[in-house]
Amino acid sequence: MIILAFFLAHWYLSLFAQTFFLHRYAAHQMFTMNKTWEKIFYILTFIFQGSSFLSPRAYGIMHRLHHAYADTENDPHSPRYSDNLFDMMWKTKSIYNDILKDKAKFDKKFYKNIPNWQFMERLGDTWAVRVGWGVL
Ligand SMILES: [Zn+2]
Repeated sequence: MIILAFFLAHWYLSLFAQTFFLHRYAAHQMFTMNKTWEKIFYILTFIFQGSSFLSPRAYGIMHRLHHAYADTENDPHSPRYSDNLFDMMWKTKSIYNDILKDKAKFDKKFYKNIPNWQFMERLGDTWAVRVGWGVL
């Protein structure tokens, strides 16, 4: 029962971090928070998502691209320009990693007010690569 409760909590808290901090705050700037709260949510996202940690910076930029170029060939997450679900997710992962590693550059409007705590970005990336994404 404790194990089930742990995984249910991990699932919902991870979802909360994704929808509240990564999607609504980092990508869409639906609300503001000061740098202290931003750091608190960086840490909570790191804890809640564990080895599935998604960079708020890379997610925010990628999600803005997704909305700006919805269902065009520049959309990083479009089923229309992918052969199947796995191909789409592989392309999304590749673009995410390119943004994360600064291998891809986009118009500066996609970077405006994006959260970027370098320490947590590096820590989260190291943790995610070593534990969760190591084979990718
Ligand atoms: Zn959105």
